[in-house]
Amino acid sequence: MTTRISHWIDGRLTEGTSGRTSPVYNPATGAVTGEVDLASLEELDTAVASASAAAKEWRSASLSHRSAVLFAFRELLHQRTPELAAIITSEHGKVLSDAAGEIARGLENVEFATGVPNLLKGGFTEQAATGVDVYNIRQPLGVVAGVTPFNFPAMVPLWMCANAIACGNAFILKPSEKDPSAALFLAQLWKEAGLPDGLFTVLHGDKVAVDGLLDHLGIAAVSFVGSTPIAKYIYERGTANGKRVQALGGAKNHALVLPDADVDMAADSVVSAAYGSAGERCMALSVAVAVGDVAQPLVDAIAARLPKLTVGDGTDADTDMGPLITAEHRDKVAGYVGAGQEAGATVVVDGREGDLPTDGFFLGTTLLDHVTPEMTVYTDEIFGPVLSVVRVDTYEEGLELINSNQYANGTAIFTRDGGAARRFQFDVEVGMVGINVPIPVPVAYYSFGGWKDSLFGDTHMYGPEGINFYTRGKVVTQRWPDPATSSVDLGFPRTR
Ligand code: NAD
Repeated sequence: MTTRISHWIDGRLTEGTSGRTSPVYNPATGAVTGEVDLASLEELDTAVASASAAAKEWRSASLSHRSAVLFAFRELLHQRTPELAAIITSEHGKVLSDAAGEIARGLENVEFATGVPNLLKGGFTEQAATGVDVYNIRQPLGVVAGVTPFNFPAMVPLWMCANAIACGNAFILKPSEKDPSAALFLAQLWKEAGLPDGLFTVLHGDKVAVDGLLDHLGIAAVSFVGSTPIAKYIYERGTANGKRVQALGGAKNHALVLPDADVDMAADSVVSAAYGSAGERCMALSVAVAVGDVAQPLVDAIAARLPKLTVGDGTDADTDMGPLITAEHRDKVAGYVGAGQEAGATVVVDGREGDLPTDGFFLGTTLLDHVTPEMTVYTDEIFGPVLSVVRVDTYEEGLELINSNQYANGTAIFTRDGGAARRFQFDVEVGMVGINVPIPVPVAYYSFGGWKDSLFGDTHMYGPEGINFYTRGKVVTQRWPDPATSSVDLGFPRTR
């Protein structure tokens, strides 16, 4: 039995009419568990019409009312985390604790958005000119869309929708077709929280739906998170159509391990960040740059930890690492390990070998040493449980390697030297930096985003930049003159 996974339009489940669907798998068993509807352009029009009508009302809702809905949503999300985590694990494969972790990080964004009355507070200048006051206000854009990746089916939509809705917009989510059910659970919670129908829409689909969103005159802005080629495409097509676009792309995150680092702590951190969620995180550490003498002890310490990790079904409490998202992706990742080996990397631990569950899309942990920058295991985002170690002689050489990479999402330095860490923070050309912190995802009251090919557009996701993205500024200059002093003056207005 497979489940039909339908759209959520105008506050209710709406069966697709396009006749096109896509299979959804349980990656731990390999079984098809659902068929998700893929939207047509006509269905997109219906969704935008509903969202547009709802947005016109919602922009008039008081800030305290919006905040109350967000508080209610926050409570429901918190209470029903175990249910949502189970949905995520069943379609994504990540372990339940990791699924609960992504919900907790998404929840932070909802909590941030509950402060919308304060976040939208503008400035006021009295007496900018004689008898003239100036103030600024921020207003919603109308209907905005989010296109999200498979690897965080709850957190990334929450990065976007909490702020978008708090700011007075209607939000249309096009989730990944690989794990679409979490989006519908969020829709149900929004409804239970009292959000009016039409303000949170889930439109499932593929390129047809995404292109439709990018072209639709009724959509004012698009937030995207996914791979770099698609992020670039989304940015170019969306902005060509006059929309605001923030498009976050792929990553190749380096850990720089200095000779003075605590080797055991660095190894614990690198293993956690390389293999957590089977490496399918945009903030995964996929390259360890070992400086000088730390290289061999670091490789030994990482290798010693890998046999202790249990690979299996994410619903099993003993499992550390679940399967990959699809069979094709698992085979692609395994292909990179082979390519690295052929190119001369040392395979210290081979994830293709060993005792893995036979059903499902499993691959073990791989550790490659003596990786060099021209190998495809280094140049490409693999998005799997593969860690490459690049050995360098100096801090400068390591820094140069990181700064030469096309991706610049996150990075982390491991050291006991505060001066070296401070220097790295200043020198490194990457958007998010960890100092002895392996996955430096900013808290919700900062903003998230990489540099270079990890982000197209100039606005980072969520936090203060998210509030700016989902609103446009208006500046009002006012005076209340005495009619008796009124006169015609064709000169340009001056403040002095
Ligand atoms: P993806 O780019 O394949 O898909 C992302 C979204 O784009 C999905 O909703 C998908 O349906 C849609 N899409 C795919 N191909 C399209 C096309 N040709 N035209 C229009 N839309 C298309 O990414 P994914 O495999 O779902 O997710 C993994 C990628 O996301 C990795 O590269 C990862 O680094 C990246 N990611 C980045 C961040 C970040 O914050 N920078 C966060 C999470 C994931």
